[in-house]
Amino acid sequence: MSVSPRGYALADLDLSTFDRSTRSTVRVQRPDRYRLLESLPPDVPRIARGSGVSYVAASFGDGAISQELGAFDRLLGFDAEHGLVTVEAGARIGDVARFVLRHGWSLPVVPGHPRASIGGCIAADVHGKNPARDGTFRDYVEALGVFDPLHGWLQASPHENAERFAACHAGFGIAGTIVHATLRLAPAPAAYTIRRLPVANLREARDVLVAHAGAPLLYGWHDGRARHFGRGVIRFGLESHEAAPRAKAGADLPVQVAPWRACAWTPAGITAMNAWIHHRWCRAGSSQVDVASALFPLNDARAYYGGFGPEGFVEAQWLVPYATYDAFVDGLEALVAKHRPAITLVASKLFDGEPEGLAFDGRGIAFAIQLARPRATTQRAFLDALTALALEQRARPNLIKDASLDAATVRQAISGFEGARARLRAFDPQGLHRSDLTRRLDL
Ligand SMILES: Cc1cc2nc3c(=O)[nH]c(=O)nc-3n(C[C@H](O)[C@H](O)[C@H](O)COP(=O)(O)OP(=O)(O)OC[C@H]3O[C@@H](n4cnc5c(N)ncnc54)[C@H](O)[C@@H]3O)c2cc1C
Repeated sequence: MSVSPRGYALADLDLSTFDRSTRSTVRVQRPDRYRLLESLPPDVPRIARGSGVSYVAASFGDGAISQELGAFDRLLGFDAEHGLVTVEAGARIGDVARFVLRHGWSLPVVPGHPRASIGGCIAADVHGKNPARDGTFRDYVEALGVFDPLHGWLQASPHENAERFAACHAGFGIAGTIVHATLRLAPAPAAYTIRRLPVANLREARDVLVAHAGAPLLYGWHDGRARHFGRGVIRFGLESHEAAPRAKAGADLPVQVAPWRACAWTPAGITAMNAWIHHRWCRAGSSQVDVASALFPLNDARAYYGGFGPEGFVEAQWLVPYATYDAFVDGLEALVAKHRPAITLVASKLFDGEPEGLAFDGRGIAFAIQLARPRATTQRAFLDALTALALEQRARPNLIKDASLDAATVRQAISGFEGARARLRAFDPQGLHRSDLTRRLDL
């Protein structure tokens, strides 16, 4: 740890992407008061870091100081009558969700990892359990407090600094450091009744997802092996007025689950896992689940993440428009049959939004495909072929998830990419906010 004459301390931290393609020793500042955010000289390259649970290196990069905001996690205001909460940007989504739940309110968009920070949710414009119904995080942000090294402290909302406000969403830290946010809440149900509908393939999955577009929770799990590709289950949850028996609250999923010594997701391991999930979950039925457990089902998935071992894993997530859905699924099935990649899961979600800037949004069905041993030749060949297929079928990539994307691919995949980039960089003409993500994609 070193302390500068201006009073800020820096520590060296070894950080890596989830697929281990990028590893860096990074200088990290952990400010715990606002004046320490200001103390970094304005010409020093930096990038905001929330909890660091992004799959890609979005909050660190060579030559930039990561400003980790975890100490800024206070509740600043709560309007229980109108359903508004103001929190510092380092507050974790799981903590905020549980606080408002105790008062009968909920956050409509909550990503899968309970430790994602509010700042990280805004800067990646995350989606929750049914983006087709609830949109993305930006739809619930009323106002922001932002620190810009060149312009100081700013308030931003649709009525004040509106362009900066818009740029902060899916802005990946480029439009300034979000320090606090006011979020709009929705009344919370007492519990969810979650129904399971088995599907034989991804075509059936589309029909079931579309038929339940209005459900508050809606997502699918699918087998990724060639032999059973796409079979799985769609889970949809409806609000229930009867309280569910409260599940014993376990600890939140850690930021990085300690990897097992070797990768468990060999072909035999993947087969065993799929057989277990198929037996346990892929049957029609329903259960009553308390709201907190429904929001963070991944808290029970430690063994799944640890099982990737020291090599980690990669996730490609593409949003496929309805018009090219059948062609995409045909192509995906053919690629899986040809490459036989070690896919550990395929997850499906329905979207019905207007893509803004670089955000992961649009109309269609998104597939998240997770693969073990990301650097093995077979996996890389499959990922390259998947990217080519996705481009051909006009799918949209999720920049915060897939570390295998390059600058040329995202320019081809996201219409209006250059305009969106220019709108972001207008707030940072000197390129002070930079990360490995902004370097790789030339953001
Ligand atoms: C198991 C798992 C499940 C997930 N499920 C979902 C899901 O369902 N839906 C979804 O959309 N995503 C999901 N994600 C992705 C995750 O929600 C996002 O990557 C989110 O951005 C992580 O928040 P963070 O605080 O860790 O951000 P970080 O990883 O620290 O940073 C992410 C980006 O936000 C910027 N940033 C962070 N804080 C600030 C700030 N205060 N001001 C300005 N910029 C800031 C960083 O510079 C960086 O560009 C999941 C991730 C994991 C590991």
